[in-house]
Amino acid sequence: MDYGKYFNTRKTPQSQPLPNQVQNNAGGYSFQVDKWMLLDRFLILGTEGGSYYVGEQALTVENARAAYECIQEDGIRVVDRVVEISVQGRAAKNDPALYVLAMAAGTGNLATRRYALSYLSEVARTGTHLFTFVDYVQQFRGWGRALKNAVGNWYLDRPIEKLAYQAIKYRNRKGWTHADVLRKAHPKAHNQLQNDLFKWIVDGDVPSIQLVRAFEAAKTASEDDLVALIAQYDLPREALPTEALNSPKVWRSLLVHMPLMALVRNLGKLSNVGVVAPGRWVEIEHTVGMLTNRQKIQQSRIHPIQVLAALTTYSQGRGVRGSLTWDVVPEIVAALNTTYEMAFDNVEPSGKKTLVALDVSSSMTWGEVSGVPGLTPRVAAAAMAMMTIKTEPYTLPLAFSTEPTPMNLNKSMSLNEVIREMERIRFGGTDCALPMLWALENKAEVDLFVVYTDSETWYGKIHPVQALQMYREQMGIPAKLAVVGMLANKFSIADPNDPGMLDFVGFDTSVPQALAEFAKM
Ligand code: CA
Repeated sequence: MDYGKYFNTRKTPQSQPLPNQVQNNAGGYSFQVDKWMLLDRFLILGTEGGSYYVGEQALTVENARAAYECIQEDGIRVVDRVVEISVQGRAAKNDPALYVLAMAAGTGNLATRRYALSYLSEVARTGTHLFTFVDYVQQFRGWGRALKNAVGNWYLDRPIEKLAYQAIKYRNRKGWTHADVLRKAHPKAHNQLQNDLFKWIVDGDVPSIQLVRAFEAAKTASEDDLVALIAQYDLPREALPTEALNSPKVWRSLLVHMPLMALVRNLGKLSNVGVVAPGRWVEIEHTVGMLTNRQKIQQSRIHPIQVLAALTTYSQGRGVRGSLTWDVVPEIVAALNTTYEMAFDNVEPSGKKTLVALDVSSSMTWGEVSGVPGLTPRVAAAAMAMMTIKTEPYTLPLAFSTEPTPMNLNKSMSLNEVIREMERIRFGGTDCALPMLWALENKAEVDLFVVYTDSETWYGKIHPVQALQMYREQMGIPAKLAVVGMLANKFSIADPNDPGMLDFVGFDTSVPQALAEFAKM
């Protein structure tokens, strides 16, 4: 009887668990990340659209439950994490941070509730954020004095011109307006100007605040007057009447002071109305200058995923909903590639030999990352991996599903070329042991395996950690494994008890640098 054939700890099929493993959604076995890692995944990835295996609702409940348990265990730590990730702009969307902050403000102990509310203005930086927070918080608590004060201070602590700007730019979201919020919070104005502004918001009595007067004047202004108002008062696009947004003159005026985030979002429209178009050198130069301005990129907190979404849409010359079309300016496409790279934290290369492995299985082709149409986890993973490929001197790109496929990704490739390369690769089942097995079979020297995956592995005859152990022993290299989780599920192929393996969260802007640091450790 060969007992070892049925149970040993060195070569176990992925359909059977190792000690401490749990069954994943694909029917195989993975390690389970702790609730704090799941909280990070939720804050950075969100659960929009669910996953290949789990619907949006079930995935959200699982994540929310983990967040709730974290709040009960150490609410202050949760709030600190929310603030850190939100303020540094590490997530593509701020909604999960607002949701967890609202949960902490409603379900934490007294110290946590106070602490959460004290950070409201840091996490809810715009009117839209505030409306979203207010909508969420009502699901966890009522309008007690502490909540009224915190929301009231959001209005009271802002300089009047900045508050007026918020009021004309972000006017409603989720069924909430500033008038609704002011009626709930009842802040007591500190001075006459605040009082006048609140009165305008609630009753419509126009105050002597210039920005508000300009906003009101814009409602009935002629095209030329609008252009002048925009130039003088920096009125944002959101403050203009809808009809005005078909005017090239208006858009040209808007372009002059348009903040980076708005510029990236409106490239299609600016091109469609012919303001940023082939041969329009002044506007092209201005736009390229903005898109490649490192300081502006970092101040704006624009996230690489937002840039990637703009890049894929813009370079197709047609809007997602199909109604807008435009002529693509190659200089703008090139500039967006730079914006993308600059939107990550600076990376100091580790100089370590790095195998960059991309899970291209079916589950990674499902869904939309951060709600971006057409952006699947596997495409986003490839774009993310490019940061390592571009910065590290020694990298080996490899795709895998049920078989390994060396990939033609190199430093000089543009994101569109990367996406085309990804689209060529077939997908199938999932065997996350393949990167290590491939490296061993090819005697490839690897210090760090970086695997971009959802850890829903099930296909292989050996677990990824066992394959890594085998690689370490046979090659005599203490190789490490970094797992970049591309989905807010609770699974990982990294063994939490092995310090040479670590979990990272996909699309976290700090990941490329964190990978380099882990490699050097
Ligand atoms: Ca899969």
